[in-house]
Amino acid sequence: MPTLYTPFRGTYGIVRGFTGSDYRRHHTGIDYRTPHGTPILASAAGTVVKSVDLTYSYGRFIVVAHADRTFTVYAHLSLRQAALGARVVAGQRIGLSGNTGNSSGPHLHFEVRRGRNSSGASVNPRPLLRGNPPVATALAELPETAATADLTEPTGLIDLADLADLVDEPDTAEAAGDVPAAGPCGSTGSDIEEEEQAAQEQAAEAEGTLP
Ligand SMILES: [Zn+2]
Repeated sequence: MPTLYTPFRGTYGIVRGFTGSDYRRHHTGIDYRTPHGTPILASAAGTVVKSVDLTYSYGRFIVVAHADRTFTVYAHLSLRQAALGARVVAGQRIGLSGNTGNSSGPHLHFEVRRGRNSSGASVNPRPLLRGNPPVATALAELPETAATADLTEPTGLIDLADLADLVDEPDTAEAAGDVPAAGPCGSTGSDIEEEEQAAQEQAAEAEGTLP
């Protein structure tokens, strides 16, 4: 499991928390109250496997693949600043937050997924985050139009053999089909602690009823 950092500098309130991994019934990420135009930073080193504009769902969003089949999703951006195939370091700017897609106000929907590809199960990012990211250097100087990057080139940062087969999707809206839409999320959500409490109780209940 790679070390994950908060996807921005400073602190922003949480509008809505993770309630479960089933997007049909739950909120699958964290909504941060980031004002429009807040720089959004890669949570860990990795490769951009989706950089897409939608008019619905996640709006403008980016997915970064990390080591250990871990993915991070950054949704409702006003601007994408990392192209498909770009390699990024932790703390590197990949876009600006916004209010695009199915969003009721400026915020960042941040998601962590685990699995074979970016359609893997969402997990609660909150216990995984290790504070603000380090100041990005080195790779951050690379041009952002790295869509044609040679992904077999070793970087020493991540296991590219593990990632190369994931970078196969075109930079189009159609490519977003396997990233399931969350329910509506936005800046007018309810109290996060209440939601997390409810989710925990549900989980405990479910565990209790298992054979
Ligand atoms: Zn959300």
